[in-house]
Amino acid sequence: MRLTVLALAASSLALSAQVPQPPTGNAAVSAALESIKRENAWTLQQQVSICEIPAPPFKEQVRGQEIVRRFKEHGLQNVRVDAEGNVIGERPGSGNGPTVVLSGHLDTVFPEGTDVKVKLEGGRYRGPGIGDDCRGLATILAVARAMKAANVTYPGKVLFVATVGEEGPGNLRGVRHFFQNPPEKIDFFISVDGTGLGLTTGAVGSHRYLVQFQGPGGHSYGAFGMPNPIHAMGRAIAKVSDFQVPRSPRTTFNVGIVTGGTSVNTISPLGAMEVDLRSESPEELLAVDTKLKNAVQQAVDEENARAPDHPGKVTVKWIDMGIRPAVLVNNESFVARAALAAGKALGFTAETGASSTDANYPMSLGIPSITIDGGGIGRGAHSIAESYEDGPEGWKGPQWALLTTVTLAGLGRTAGVVP
Ligand SMILES: [Zn+2]
Repeated sequence: MRLTVLALAASSLALSAQVPQPPTGNAAVSAALESIKRENAWTLQQQVSICEIPAPPFKEQVRGQEIVRRFKEHGLQNVRVDAEGNVIGERPGSGNGPTVVLSGHLDTVFPEGTDVKVKLEGGRYRGPGIGDDCRGLATILAVARAMKAANVTYPGKVLFVATVGEEGPGNLRGVRHFFQNPPEKIDFFISVDGTGLGLTTGAVGSHRYLVQFQGPGGHSYGAFGMPNPIHAMGRAIAKVSDFQVPRSPRTTFNVGIVTGGTSVNTISPLGAMEVDLRSESPEELLAVDTKLKNAVQQAVDEENARAPDHPGKVTVKWIDMGIRPAVLVNNESFVARAALAAGKALGFTAETGASSTDANYPMSLGIPSITIDGGGIGRGAHSIAESYEDGPEGWKGPQWALLTTVTLAGLGRTAGVVP
């Protein structure tokens, strides 16, 4: 019994050795936190005005240029746009310390021509992208502005980054480019994405494919008996529908789009499906990926086996639509503990989990990374009915981003173990 207690005490000491302490006693940090609360209306105005600049996938330039202007306005240095379109601004510290990236993403899922005018209805802002990720961009601007107003200093350095291509079609192209061509060694990466006060410490991985079933095609009556690409695809979808996947770690599959066909009386030369596979676990993602590959091959073999003597065969072509690596949830890392401790200092306990964000990529490289929410209450992300409500404490999102950032930038004393 006593041994157990001792073991527990020892392990909690070992853990506390890694617990970062948010610098709530630092006068400049306190003043910055105060100013975020006081200037809450300004933050909301940033969020709305950014949202009204369209930023469809691969067309984030105009919004990016406006972020360049605002980064400069709030004292960031060496503000530039990199070769992929990411906007980067620097806020150096007082000496040598960790370099922290604080980022939000520029792109939305909405195509060109979407009405992005924000409407305020009973305390609720409606506009496509208002939460995802105009809240994140407004949050990082609020942090930069408050740091400048309160003259916050820290040993490390903070890079403010607005990334392109976070959403599906972009396939993390901005954050990939950033980490493939890092301006310097990055010690910590924080993405502010969406609304609420949740913390993402793991990455939901995804594999997306366009699977094309191809054949010679012919007349439905005259060429009957020829292997049929659409029938092969149907066999494959039936198999996929029966996949068994674990509930935990959460693993999912979806045939999202099917296309093909020429007319009702034609054996189509093509049937195509788009498939999305996701998992919190790299192993399970690989397992469901293997299942998909096997199911498609079996389906094709079965279809071809119906007409073994027919010269025409169904074949398959796989086209990668995007691969995002999975990383298991880890709430014990230093970066996760810094965010949890900062939340606690601000009076809330962040719920943790895995999701699919810009942090997926640096996480997969082993760079300590998290995604935090930007506060407030969001609804309907990725729909044109998306809305944002600030609620009583929306400002806690930007405060959390600031406190986590300065903690990681070297102001967070680590609780030591007295030998
Ligand atoms: Zn987002």
